[in-house]
Amino acid sequence: MSMLTYRYRIKDSTSGTHLARIASAINYVWNYCNEVSLLAFRSDKTFLTAYDLHTLTAGTSKDLRLSADTIQQVCTEYVTRRRQSKKITLKWRSWRRSLGWIPFKAAYIRLHAETITCCGHRVRVWLSRPLTGTMKMGSFTQDARGRWYVNLHCEVPDAAEPTGQRAIGIDLGLKNQITCSDGIIYSRENLTRQHAQPLAMAQRAQKKRRAKALQAKMANIRKDWTHKATTAIARRAKLLVISNVSSTKLVKTPFATSTYDAAWGIVRHQLTYKAKRLAGVCVAGNERFSSVTCSGCGIRSGPSGLSALGVRAWVCSGCGVEHDRDVNAARNILALRSGRATPIKGIPVR
Ligand SMILES: [Zn+2]
Repeated sequence: MSMLTYRYRIKDSTSGTHLARIASAINYVWNYCNEVSLLAFRSDKTFLTAYDLHTLTAGTSKDLRLSADTIQQVCTEYVTRRRQSKKITLKWRSWRRSLGWIPFKAAYIRLHAETITCCGHRVRVWLSRPLTGTMKMGSFTQDARGRWYVNLHCEVPDAAEPTGQRAIGIDLGLKNQITCSDGIIYSRENLTRQHAQPLAMAQRAQKKRRAKALQAKMANIRKDWTHKATTAIARRAKLLVISNVSSTKLVKTPFATSTYDAAWGIVRHQLTYKAKRLAGVCVAGNERFSSVTCSGCGIRSGPSGLSALGVRAWVCSGCGVEHDRDVNAARNILALRSGRATPIKGIPVR
């Protein structure tokens, strides 16, 4: 079984104000937790647990017009956040400073056509794609632009048989974000660079709404592109071997913008859960020497170093085969893992 989150946009014009009212009641609960925790700490130097807060807030659901379960989830979340932050109190919440967040359990809501009934109120959504699986829980959330969404976490069964039959090696890069060993390359423009100028103009002119809209646009394009690419790859393969390239060193070089833009971590995460859902396997491969080694004869004759990142194609001095830089690297990553090719000198085969 896998958990899938379906995210739908709420029809803000009809349901937005209602959700904003619920969110402000939630802020009230949050601030109450903050205050009562601080008082408890001042008087006996103890931190209240989630259980204590559940007891203290019991019976308030009617006055707050929130379900008892939602209040409990807010209390639990408060305790988790306070532990993570290692502070005595957290920041106070107000409608101006915090984004809306309304958690709920599936048992308390009903989805019918394009309407969600929640605590006796009707919230209208754009059902952009059909819902599958069993709904377990969910939340209403607000983004930085004040738009509301509903997130429904559903349990869906995994495929019994792998949908694809190939074994694919995957190289993650900056010019081509994802390259597969079967020669298929997923490449898009650097979105950060593409939108840098209009974004800087909006920020200089202090046009906050425009800046937020541009940032949201970049995030949406990146997310859409990454989902489409990773789904297509996971559908083709039984075994996925992903390069273990790390971005920590690269973000200190002039390639930082491209590294952040490529979002390798997100690609790796998506491929991992999508492979599981489609009955495939996703493992990490060793990317060391993968771009300098010839995938044909195993000699390290390719371009090496940061300065040679611009060299896209090269000819092996050992066997004379012409290589595309990224496809060759992806082939090496796959060969090392599956052990089909001759082991490359200096790298142990696992
Ligand atoms: Zn060669």
